[in-house]
Amino acid sequence: MDNRQWLINGNPKGRALEANDFKQQTVTLGNLPQGSVRVRVAYLSFDPSQKGQMENIGYAAATEMGQVMRASGVGEVLESKAQNINVGDWVLGSLGWQEVADLDASELEVLEQGVSPTRFLGPLGGTGLTAFFGLFRVGQPKPGDTVLVSGAAGATGSIVGQLAKLAGCRVVGIAGGDAKCAWLVDELGFDAAIDYKSDKVKSAVRAACPQGVNVFFDNVGGSILNDVLSCIALNARVVICGGISRYQEAVLPPGPANYFNLVFRRARMEGFLVTDYKAEFSTARKRLATWLDTGQLLYKEDIQEGFEQIPQTLQRVFDGANFGKQLLKL
Ligand code: NAP
Repeated sequence: MDNRQWLINGNPKGRALEANDFKQQTVTLGNLPQGSVRVRVAYLSFDPSQKGQMENIGYAAATEMGQVMRASGVGEVLESKAQNINVGDWVLGSLGWQEVADLDASELEVLEQGVSPTRFLGPLGGTGLTAFFGLFRVGQPKPGDTVLVSGAAGATGSIVGQLAKLAGCRVVGIAGGDAKCAWLVDELGFDAAIDYKSDKVKSAVRAACPQGVNVFFDNVGGSILNDVLSCIALNARVVICGGISRYQEAVLPPGPANYFNLVFRRARMEGFLVTDYKAEFSTARKRLATWLDTGQLLYKEDIQEGFEQIPQTLQRVFDGANFGKQLLKL
């Protein structure tokens, strides 16, 4: 059986991804070893961190040139030499950019039947868990707080805002463009949205958050973080989830000039990695699943199609071309 794969072929540090950063190969699969499972990859997840993993910036296991590009995915079991996984099961794991993945059974999780498998890449996957732990553990929202989210119409940000509403907060999102801002307010129930591409962020945040920002969940960094730092309330919590505005920059901007407002407002700025909370993932997933099932938590998927489209699909999250969780169907 042949298997097409995309391999890492470049280090995109300090720039956007380029076509030459990946190369294709076709291999013939051998016999499956005992304890392993052969999976037909059905959907892949695209996350900004995948570019960081190619750059080996240090928060995930090192990658090497020539290895299959790493990515979470879900797929159907074609063959199994493991006791606890059967042909036809749907599984979640680090399947990678390839059509078929052979993995040890210990690296796979069998998915619950009757639930859309792509949910486990979005709201019940790393995306939903990042929103859950970043907001509740690091942001610690209280009812009545004003919670501001950047990258708000993205996969993570859109869940953060809805969780903050469930926690009884007033929620404002920052996103790029009219369509994304309208979706936040009209469909997800955000109280207000700021279009950072056409509004002046600092004055728009002041107008939308007149009592100041109690929790800022930041996915973007750069000038948006700096502007918001000048609008924080007393004892604010600034959650550093991501900084996508810097992921393609050759020269990183100096630290936010307004950081000293953390002193005046006795505020806290704290980063986190979702993997820190691994031991609690299943508990959090149950809560997220309940909100999904009751319709209190909505999500959007942006599904590209086809093996050839895989590399271009990763660039979409850096261009803001994705509207919802970026996935690809093979
Ligand atoms: P996403 O938000 O679905 O997609 C990225 C979005 O970022 C784009 O749609 C775009 O939306 C926005 N963006 C891109 N460049 C921008 C720029 N220069 N300025 C402002 N906005 C920009 O992706 P995601 O997977 O949910 O990830 C969101 C953030 O969470 C990323 O920073 C990621 O690194 C971080 N993250 C952190 C952890 C953790 O453990 N700490 C885990 C997962 C993800 P617009 O159209 O609105 O510009």
